[in-house]
Amino acid sequence: MNNQVSMELLVSLCKRRGIIFQSSEPYGGIGGFWDYGPVGVELRNRIKSHWWRYMVQYRDDVVGLDTSIIAHPQTWVASGHVDSFSDPMVDCKQCKKRFRTDQIPDLEQCPACGGELTEPREFNLMFKTFVGPVQDDASVAYLRPETCQSIFTQFKNTMTTARKKPPFGIAQVGKSFRNEITPRNFIFRSREFEQMEMEFFCTAQESGRFYDYWVQERFNWFVNLGVRKENLRLRPHTADELAHYANGCTDVEYEFPFGWSELEGIADRGNYDLSQHAKVSGKDFSVVDDQTNEKYIPNVVESSVGVDRTLLTVLADAYREETVNGETRIVLKINPEIAPYQVAMFPLSKKLSEPAKKVEIALRKKFSIDFDAIGSIGKRYRRHDEVGTPFCVTYDFDSEEDHKVTVRSRDTMEQDRVSVDQLELYLEEKFKR
Ligand code: ATP
Repeated sequence: MNNQVSMELLVSLCKRRGIIFQSSEPYGGIGGFWDYGPVGVELRNRIKSHWWRYMVQYRDDVVGLDTSIIAHPQTWVASGHVDSFSDPMVDCKQCKKRFRTDQIPDLEQCPACGGELTEPREFNLMFKTFVGPVQDDASVAYLRPETCQSIFTQFKNTMTTARKKPPFGIAQVGKSFRNEITPRNFIFRSREFEQMEMEFFCTAQESGRFYDYWVQERFNWFVNLGVRKENLRLRPHTADELAHYANGCTDVEYEFPFGWSELEGIADRGNYDLSQHAKVSGKDFSVVDDQTNEKYIPNVVESSVGVDRTLLTVLADAYREETVNGETRIVLKINPEIAPYQVAMFPLSKKLSEPAKKVEIALRKKFSIDFDAIGSIGKRYRRHDEVGTPFCVTYDFDSEEDHKVTVRSRDTMEQDRVSVDQLELYLEEKFKR
């Protein structure tokens, strides 16, 4: 394992440095919900825009979408979520298998091993609410447990307005909600989280090829994001793990401090999703093949990853403890492209705040900057090492005379004296990879 960090260390760093707070802290928190602080929100936004650039902006065959969190409840009938999650379930206390109560002959005894069963429990993971003033069965709606279903229901509108034809994809970033029975491992499994999903539509003949392509492409994205390759792996699902309609599924896994776990799933889902919506809505989801002139319902290759799990990965992977002059330095070696702050500006003394501020303001439109005038320079370096700021710029008393500032690099801790009027260029060079 290439990580030096424990979950306890990460949780405490996140709180100390304004990355992640427990939701509703004054009320004792609420299980499975988290708030992102000033540093966390910057990192989160950068991860999302990195994904968007890679998946949408840099390609001509994927377009974006942003759909509502609450959709028509029939959406979840078609997707199978209402059915497969709303039945009362029992767990076997011995072999841990889970059964729908309507599918076993005896509610006392496990049909697999004869062990004792728990009381029946509702296991619908969807959060229910009501739309409109009347709270009855007809007004029930759900907070979406995944973002992709509205990609399917808007497939035709998106395809025609974007003037696309399969093979092409639709991408979306947005919140999802699951009433997880056991939220755990910090933000790894929470009840409110964000997903970045892409559905790629193609013919049945092409789906195998596109599936292989996207598995590799998605693995490469994590490497591109700066996650160390040796801490990532691909895990193809075995036949008995696959949904009945799926032709294949591979997880990208990361070696978290609590072990190898799923970061992302890539699946060849056949044409199940569009067929289901066609069946339940009675609408036509087929497209015409340009070559054969025949109508067909496209296959879907899906990639689905959590923003929060990715953020946890970035933090765990970047965390280092180094010994410098006999002292421990905690440093987040985050890819500078996604670092919460790209630059920190320090006036050596409060008296120098005004001229230092001028330098900072000139850089603000180009870089994400934190202006920090409090505490010793050493403490300020420590603070910014802990949130992964790649460059710290100090304006000192000599700066008044020579119009130069000291730029200190997070990774090498080397310092350069740079002329103020060259500073923007100097930093731009440094951010080029
Ligand atoms: P798991 O088995 O971990 O519950 P899943 O296979 O149900 O996950 P998917 O439905 O495939 O997950 O969701 C796709 C991605 O969304 C996951 O790989 C993960 O990154 C993210 N995700 C799913 N559930 C949660 C959650 N409760 N909290 C945070 N992220 C989640």
